[in-house]
Amino acid sequence: MRVDLDGVSKRYGPTTALADVSLSVADGEFFTLVGPSGCGKTTTLRLLGGFEEPTEGTVRFDGESMAGVPPEARGVGLVFQSYALFPHMTVAENVGYGLRFADPPGGVTTDARIADLLELVGLEGFEDRDPTELSGGQQQRVALARALAPGPELLLLDEPMSALDARLRERLRRDVREIQQELGVTTVYVTHDQAEALAVSDRVAVLSEGHVEQVGRPQELYRRPASRFVAEFLGENNVFDAQVVGTTRGNSTTAGETEGLTVRVQGCDFVLPRVENASDERLTFCVRPAAFEVDSGTNRLTGDVVDSEFLGETTRVHLDWEGTRVVVALDTPPEADELTVGFDPEDAWVL
Ligand code: ATP
Repeated sequence: MRVDLDGVSKRYGPTTALADVSLSVADGEFFTLVGPSGCGKTTTLRLLGGFEEPTEGTVRFDGESMAGVPPEARGVGLVFQSYALFPHMTVAENVGYGLRFADPPGGVTTDARIADLLELVGLEGFEDRDPTELSGGQQQRVALARALAPGPELLLLDEPMSALDARLRERLRRDVREIQQELGVTTVYVTHDQAEALAVSDRVAVLSEGHVEQVGRPQELYRRPASRFVAEFLGENNVFDAQVVGTTRGNSTTAGETEGLTVRVQGCDFVLPRVENASDERLTFCVRPAAFEVDSGTNRLTGDVVDSEFLGETTRVHLDWEGTRVVVALDTPPEADELTVGFDPEDAWVL
């Protein structure tokens, strides 16, 4: 099912939770809403589920306005952060509860449907257990099975993994993704965890203060952020404000001679890739920590090592470059107190 939000705003008294949001989710897509606390993720999900009505704008399912359509008539499956299983019901009864408004799809019996779903979420044979006898991850699997029981055309997931520990979260998110692909159900997923958003989604919308900052595929958002907010929110980044000096021929260690743009940051000249609107006198660019190498690269800077975190595969080093914090990811921990690191023009992205 295709989902559209057309110019949707939601206000609660003086608070604007969403301001003129337009988004389209394609049929079968795994679409994630990500952003810091209070940016409007849950509000968007509640509008899709029919628990709230927009103050302005329209929510459409397959082109049809959902104005006034109650939650139970929307054909939507929901999984929330808290497990919300009924403690006095068995696992089978909890999953069966998902069928209270609808017959099992495909003409199968309720018992067969419950067994199929428990197998789908990896809990075959758990029918008679009480929710209290399950781990957090298992409880969320039951909640997912319950949401999927009536065969919804839209699945809404609101931070379903946030109560789980990191390892379990990774496992469950992979499973959710696999199940979603197997069923082909359109899914809108809410998380504040940017790594999770990048890992599971077909497309991601980054929200900030009730508006959409950028929508795109994970790699696109990561590599080509449209704003400083997106650049800094998705993964670690070094963002520099620079003064444009001119166009030059630069030498890149990997791309050979390139035509670039020379910019100045804190008295240091850097070569960046050519950009269309370089007539501006100032610009902002970003460089990922992993793009830096020690004593290598066209654009170099020297800073004092202020902090070094050994993370196994890489070491995250914080440099103080004349008052500016620069984070670089190195293969080996630095031995000196001062470090010269560099990046090539193609590693920089102009915002
Ligand atoms: P979180 O990650 O913390 O859950 P969120 O991105 O889901 O945040 P929302 O819950 O959508 O954010 O809230 C967006 C804004 O709307 C916040 O400022 C919030 O305080 C406000 N808000 C949400 N629901 C209500 C309500 N029922 N009444 C008043 N204000 C509300």
